[in-house]
Amino acid sequence: LFKLDGKTALVTGAAQGIGFEIAKGLSEAGAKVIIADMNPETGEAAASSIGGRFEMLNVTDSDAVRALASRLSPLDVLVNNAGIVRNVPSEDISDADWEVVMSVNVNGVFWCCREFGKKMLGAGKGSIVSTASMSGLISNHPQPQSGYNASKAAVIHLTRSLAGEWADRGVRVNAVAPGYTATPMTILGLETPEWRETWLKETPMKRLAEPREIAPAVLYLASEASSFVTGHTLVVDGGYTA
Ligand code: NAD
Repeated sequence: LFKLDGKTALVTGAAQGIGFEIAKGLSEAGAKVIIADMNPETGEAAASSIGGRFEMLNVTDSDAVRALASRLSPLDVLVNNAGIVRNVPSEDISDADWEVVMSVNVNGVFWCCREFGKKMLGAGKGSIVSTASMSGLISNHPQPQSGYNASKAAVIHLTRSLAGEWADRGVRVNAVAPGYTATPMTILGLETPEWRETWLKETPMKRLAEPREIAPAVLYLASEASSFVTGHTLVVDGGYTA
């Protein structure tokens, strides 16, 4: 049920962190995996470590997304994982910081859904999974990240909307919503002793997720195991939003 033998999967933002573990998990399930990332150094190494292929892609560039989609055969699985965060109080955030978060997290997901989804619709099959966040479900007030929260809420509702549009044409659209996960984004980018203490206090399991704990949820939604599931967001947060 969870096998992806003979399938092709593309994962955006998979040069490191959660995306890499998703790519690895899909590869272990039998898929031919394409890592599409804007960082060629880490991306090439990540792809070769799992026997996959690297494609340079900035998901905010809709022309580049269209060009890549038109070069590739229809995908069986698309994982929209590339995402960024800016932790700045709302009263101080610059236009540029607000816009870049929306551009990567919302526009980037939509450009990929539109271009790769169009080809899936032509083939009459496909599964799309986007990495949202628990921050799309709650205000996650300990951190000043209103733009990130809004962008991930948009991913969750875009998922429902596309699922409704494409359900009777063979394309399923779902999302996962991780809680705090130990990746370069959190460990290098966000962590301070105060925030770590808050994360641990607020997470009933009293720990961060490991990136490899998000991958099985994506594999479920990508595979035939979830053949009657669409428009769903699967929360993987150690109980944070419970
Ligand atoms: P990360 O920063 O460790 O890795 C992100 C990857 O995306 C990098 O390889 C980067 O090069 C790539 N990327 C960034 N912008 C891109 C663009 N415009 N085009 C293509 N690639 C791009 O991040 P992570 O923690 O692994 O997060 C992955 C996803 O999971 C993101 O969508 C993030 O919002 C989401 N998420 C993370 C956490 C967490 O705690 N780490 C929690 C919930 C959701």
